[in-house]
Amino acid sequence: MLGIPYLVTHLGSSLGSDAAAARERAITAIGKGVAAAEGEVIILLENTAGTQNSIGTTFEEIAMIMEGVEQYGPVGVCFDTCHAFAAGYDLRTAEATDSVVRHFDAAIGLSHLKIIHLNDTLSELNGRRDRHAHIGLGMIGEKGIRSVVTHPALRALPFICETPVDCRRNDRGNIACARKLAEEAGTGVPSHPTI
Ligand SMILES: [Zn+2]
Repeated sequence: MLGIPYLVTHLGSSLGSDAAAARERAITAIGKGVAAAEGEVIILLENTAGTQNSIGTTFEEIAMIMEGVEQYGPVGVCFDTCHAFAAGYDLRTAEATDSVVRHFDAAIGLSHLKIIHLNDTLSELNGRRDRHAHIGLGMIGEKGIRSVVTHPALRALPFICETPVDCRRNDRGNIACARKLAEEAGTGVPSHPTI
């Protein structure tokens, strides 16, 4: 009805039950949506921050759920930088981001990555808290955000900011900051012959 290409969903919580059983429930529920969408809207699974009982925190777990859902139709992934950092994926330098991208490619496959949720975070690395922050003003920082928006395998993707609005900055300010970081030359991003 909306004519949109993608719909992003989180993967929910196990509510303390067995993780494998929770994955099966997620596969069944998402599979119903994927089947009903008949390929017109692709459902994208978003990585989660690793707060208590959340599922879909690791690339490996997302891959397992995708494998189960694919029998119902096509499915892709949305990568949230805030959630990834909170879950232990370091994005603070070009080298660290490149290694996360390679890990994603090995576990899930970059062809499945359709959207980036570009957020900084108040969580420490692996702090497991879902607290979004202004671009460059959180624990990922300007250098880290720059490494994401300029990475050869990521920079052509759509980026969506889910950043706070307060007296320091609004949405327009955060997008301007992301653009500035994307446009700065000489970022030291490693060359990427294989992706
Ligand atoms: Zn998100």
